Amino acid sequence: MSIPRTVFQEEHEAFRRTVKAFIDKEIAPYHAQWEKDGIVPRDVWRKAGGEGLLLTGIPEEYGGSGADFLMSAVVIEELAKGIWSGPGFRLHSDIVAPYILHYGNEEQKRSILPRMARGEIVTAIAMTEPGTGSDLQGVKTTAVRKGNEIVVNGQKTFITNGQNADLVIVVAKTDPNEGAKGISLVLVEADRPGFRKGRNLEKLGLKAQDTSELFFDDVRVPPSNVLGEEGQGFKYLMQELPQERLIVGVAAVAIMEAALEWTLAYTRDRKAFGRPIADFQNTRFKLAEVATEVQVARVFVDRCLELHAAGKLDVPTAAMQKWWLSELEGRVLDTCLQLHGGYGFMWEYPIARAYADARIHRIFAGTTEIMKEIVARSL
Ligand SMILES: Cc1cc2nc3c(=O)[nH]c(=O)nc-3n(C[C@H](O)[C@H](O)[C@H](O)COP(=O)(O)OP(=O)(O)OC[C@H]3O[C@@H](n4cnc5c(N)ncnc54)[C@H](O)[C@@H]3O)c2cc1C
Repeated sequence: MSIPRTVFQEEHEAFRRTVKAFIDKEIAPYHAQWEKDGIVPRDVWRKAGGEGLLLTGIPEEYGGSGADFLMSAVVIEELAKGIWSGPGFRLHSDIVAPYILHYGNEEQKRSILPRMARGEIVTAIAMTEPGTGSDLQGVKTTAVRKGNEIVVNGQKTFITNGQNADLVIVVAKTDPNEGAKGISLVLVEADRPGFRKGRNLEKLGLKAQDTSELFFDDVRVPPSNVLGEEGQGFKYLMQELPQERLIVGVAAVAIMEAALEWTLAYTRDRKAFGRPIADFQNTRFKLAEVATEVQVARVFVDRCLELHAAGKLDVPTAAMQKWWLSELEGRVLDTCLQLHGGYGFMWEYPIARAYADARIHRIFAGTTEIMKEIVARSL
């Protein structure tokens, strides 16, 4: 009794089976340990590369699968459903790789993308600084020309894959006197002298994912490490952020659907006052509300997915789905957790992990407030 999904074809469903098998074998048995470690071992990245799970959206000539964004959506959904949030694949494959594909020169694409696809190198993108997150024009990190080199100085924080990263796209001012027009994207390899990884930060959720401080102290890179044109970095960020925001929406809906399933099963099984808690009118109404909201969310995000696969998802619509779906996710998970009673607060129950992990969806890739600004500006 739900509206059938029409967005995926048989090839996507076949790939979904591969992704599920990979998760069952290589992720699920180890994820609890990774949560304790605060990081996913490098080996998993290489295995995921070997199974074709990374860089699905990148053309085959650069080592990817040459598929549309819908293949990426399959990976995002399957990881989200089980709350397997440790492997930072979506950032590597669907956020960092597109910058290199769209703005890198031929040499950068040929040298970097195949190694990313094989999982040989792990990547990150460093926008946020201790003093600025939402207001990206205010970044203080500099990348200034000195002779034949570009010298990077500054500090970044909250960087996903930061500990594991071999290569980071650093958002820096090549012209510190300018605002947005002074911003460039600079590739910094982790073994450059002066580049230091700071703490792996302790977080409320996403516990298996490494999130780091990064420090740049007179890090020297060749001018060829600038991605695309100097001074165009802010424009590139604005062009790529809709996909990053859609990734959040896709994950949010997959998590809500999973949470509804867990809660239906739990409330049918759990008894109070001599009957299943699913029989209480309050439970039935709450579940009816959640099922309806999740269905509306599903139709909305699938339409956004179709538009994006056709290259037609605009910036305001991407912002709309990001804020609305992540806010709805917060409410839905809260309701589902409540229906689990005390067990909902226990880490061994997926609803507890989902509740913790999902909170960041309203913050990263642009906060709800910034999304509403973007929508309001477009009206
Ligand atoms: C787990 C995690 C992973 C992350 N991964 C990355 C990553 O890989 N790379 C990266 O660069 N960053 C990453 N981030 C950073 C994230 O993108 C920022 O935290 C986010 O953009 C918000 O910036 P901020 O934390 O500086 O908050 P601030 O910008 O200081 O905002 C604080 C509050 O003020 C509100 N606010 C700000 N400006 C306005 C305004 N104009 N109108 C109304 N309200 C406003 C915000 O909405 C928010 O509620 C990550 C963060 C976390 C927690």
